[in-house]
Amino acid sequence: LSEKLESAFKNLKGEARINDLNIANTVKDIRRALVDADVNFKIAKEFTDKVKEKATGEKVINAISPGQLMVKIVQDELTELVGGKEADFNITGNPAVILIAGLQGSGKTTFTGKLATYLKTKKGKSPLVVAADIYRPAAIDQLTVLAEQIGVDIYAERENKDAVSIAQNAIKHAKANNKNVVIIDTAGRLAVDEVMMTEVANIKAAVNPTEILFVVDAMTGQDAVNTAKTFNERLDFSGVVLTKLDGDTRGGAALSIKYTVNKPIKFMSSGEKMDTLDIFYPERMAQRILGMGDITSLVEKAQEQYNEEQAKRLEKKIRKNQFDFQDFLDQLQQIKKMGNLKDLMGMIPGVGKAIKDVEVNDDSFKGIEAIIFSMTPEERSNPDLIDAKRKARIAKGSGKDLNEVNAFMKQFEQMKKMMTMMNKMPMGGRLPGIGG
Ligand code: GDP
Ligand code: MG
Repeated sequence: LSEKLESAFKNLKGEARINDLNIANTVKDIRRALVDADVNFKIAKEFTDKVKEKATGEKVINAISPGQLMVKIVQDELTELVGGKEADFNITGNPAVILIAGLQGSGKTTFTGKLATYLKTKKGKSPLVVAADIYRPAAIDQLTVLAEQIGVDIYAERENKDAVSIAQNAIKHAKANNKNVVIIDTAGRLAVDEVMMTEVANIKAAVNPTEILFVVDAMTGQDAVNTAKTFNERLDFSGVVLTKLDGDTRGGAALSIKYTVNKPIKFMSSGEKMDTLDIFYPERMAQRILGMGDITSLVEKAQEQYNEEQAKRLEKKIRKNQFDFQDFLDQLQQIKKMGNLKDLMGMIPGVGKAIKDVEVNDDSFKGIEAIIFSMTPEERSNPDLIDAKRKARIAKGSGKDLNEVNAFMKQFEQMKKMMTMMNKMPMGGRLPGIGG
């Protein structure tokens, strides 16, 4: 989708101001791009009609380029269409009851684990996860393993074949054991099916959930919309969870689902790891759909890990050309702490596509780390100390050969020079928007 949009905006490059003709052309391209991304034609048309109307109204402004203006209008409209502001998530009540529904394989059980982790670690809650999938014993096993992994209590009844009573018993259990959020993971079928629908509807009627979250695989395109519609008619759910956004999809489903059922998307999932639950931010999704890269998330993630003071100290050292191996090692550890390196790099606009087939992982750093680990503290803080004899010792210690150590030392010197140079530039040499 992003490539198509890029070419749509290219139409506007070089045009001095927006006029009816370039609006019409651009709008047509945007519409085609949306339709190609599985956005329903009617939705795409309505969307582009709105963009057209706004762009025409903005004709007189020529302070910014038409391309930029169109990007802004499209982005604002997309943001509005996927939800405007981030939605509330209600966990009041004692216990709060969260019902998870959706087709088999959509990611319900995985999301249940993620949500429990999130509520426990970020919200200070004491969650109880409930295995209400009575058809597949493996489903109970799966949640049991997850619960153990994340250190959260689980409620299951292997002999009970009535999901409704399991849910009711789970809530009693939660009350008796001071659990303040109950997350009920239900059974799904491969396709919408009456038995499944009745069962979930019955659980809803019996436990009166605080939130009903409909989980849907973002990669299923137009099917996702139909499924959402059916579940909503039956359950009147309170929010949507969009999963598997780590796949190739750019999120066209988010657009169509929000438009069709008019329920907020509350969470998104982009990986199987338990700590990757993300709140759904409409603005960022709009940016993602536009292919701008999720800059805001990147900045936030970086800032979470990055200590302001440390950054200042480092900057000073760089300015004085005193950046040493220990600093470098610290930086490596910081980067690794931020999470999956490839995910992280993928958030930089333009980089995601470039590294799609490249193996980037923590192992890429192992060789470098081994070399630095084999240096004494004196050597790390004073690279000039490292003579031929010391180099040979370091090579031996790290299991690398002398050439590799030499190459790394040379790279390090070059990098240091570059950093010092960049730091003397007006912007401090930082990436725009990524403050330290
Ligand atoms: P359920 O049948 O709805 O409970 O679905 P599961 O939670 O068992 O997930 C089905 C499969 O999708 C499993 O292999 C999960 O590991 C995987 N999965 C779930 N969420 C995500 C996600 O956000 N990204 C990716 N890549 N895989 C996911
Ligand atoms: Mg499951």
